Amino acid sequence: MTSHEQTDLDETAAIARDLIRFDTTNYGGGRSNGETDAAEYVAAKLEELGLTPLMFESEPGRHSVLAKVPGRDQTKPGLVVHGHLDVVPADPANWSVDPFGGEVRDGMLWGRGAVDMKNMDAMMLTSVGDLLRSGQQPERNLVLGFLADEEAGGVLGSHFLVKNHPELFDGMGEAISEVGGYSTFIDGKRAYLLQTGEKALIWIKLIARGTAGHGSQMIRDNAVTRLAEAVTVLGRQEWPVELTDTTTGLLREVSRILGVDPEQIAPDELVLKTGTASGFIKGSLRVTTNPTVLQAGYKHNVIPDTAEALVDIRCMPGDEQKVLAQVRELIGDDIEIETIHTDIGLETEFGGPLVESIKSTLDKHDPGAPVLPYLLSGGTDNKALSLLGIKGYGFAPLRLPEEMDFPAMFHGVDERVPLEALTFGSRVLRDLLATY
Ligand SMILES: [Zn+2]
Repeated sequence: MTSHEQTDLDETAAIARDLIRFDTTNYGGGRSNGETDAAEYVAAKLEELGLTPLMFESEPGRHSVLAKVPGRDQTKPGLVVHGHLDVVPADPANWSVDPFGGEVRDGMLWGRGAVDMKNMDAMMLTSVGDLLRSGQQPERNLVLGFLADEEAGGVLGSHFLVKNHPELFDGMGEAISEVGGYSTFIDGKRAYLLQTGEKALIWIKLIARGTAGHGSQMIRDNAVTRLAEAVTVLGRQEWPVELTDTTTGLLREVSRILGVDPEQIAPDELVLKTGTASGFIKGSLRVTTNPTVLQAGYKHNVIPDTAEALVDIRCMPGDEQKVLAQVRELIGDDIEIETIHTDIGLETEFGGPLVESIKSTLDKHDPGAPVLPYLLSGGTDNKALSLLGIKGYGFAPLRLPEEMDFPAMFHGVDERVPLEALTFGSRVLRDLLATY
């Protein structure tokens, strides 16, 4: 411990800091520093609470930890509360602090995972810890999950558990996890966003074939040119606004707060009024087709016979086949499309007892602040849990200052979270688990 280290940290911040100091970088493509050290740390914390941690190693170094917490009411379906232990890479050259130092500065905890999502991992431990240490129980049976490999699609974490140990989740009805529950400002008023859906994902490869030849020849069917045309079409495509139940509900609520008629203002314009959260919400209104990787050629004066591009497509839940057909039509028949990876979309209703409980708990801690539904343009481990019929929500509660660009913190540089937001989140979570 260095002499200037803050020692009076709240327990949630201290645990989040400790977790940040385990470099659990997940590089994707099977490369990772592993989660085992962080998982053992979490297991020890669970044991301190009198719980029995269950460790699952999908591959060497890739541990997930789960613990069951018995609830007061055994007749109610259980709740999975889950977070992931891995983080995306961080290049220290771009950061103001050591990304794995867990530094506390200006009232914030800095480091990779401060937001995505060692903050929630810590909040889970302290909210349940507060309950158990004061002799209370959560209302429902809980499964606490601290999972590996989320940042690479959860193959070695959530999907591994769902496939090989589905019995762990017996009796579970719903789940809460990341990328929701945070606050934003709409017309100067604080509001919370509850994630009630996730777009579907389709990763495709485009392959153009043509005639190979000398770079000085007249060759019309050049694979690079043909691929570039397809990439341009998809990258520039103006997809129309497509509203789902979730985004319709969001726009209705935003309009209500602003005191405007949602029929009179374009959805894109309304979304711009959602403060920093618009960074997340913009991508939820329409299909996106973003070219991300290009590969072709090997010498300046040789026309290659193939050229390839990767395109990241995100569409509304259930629309995968329709959107693939549209993509096919846009780029024409002479480009091959290979589907590399897909994952389902999700949408659950913004209503029912859990949503009502979340609303009333937030209202107790931040009176009058409305809760709005939103559709996440990315994905979480809730996709894997949905395969067991578990309905997932994004609820990692954080009360944030207006100027904080929260969406930019996810996978961004100088990721940080206010210490007060961690304390707030732990209390909200504790009360939710105690009563729901
Ligand atoms: Zn995450």
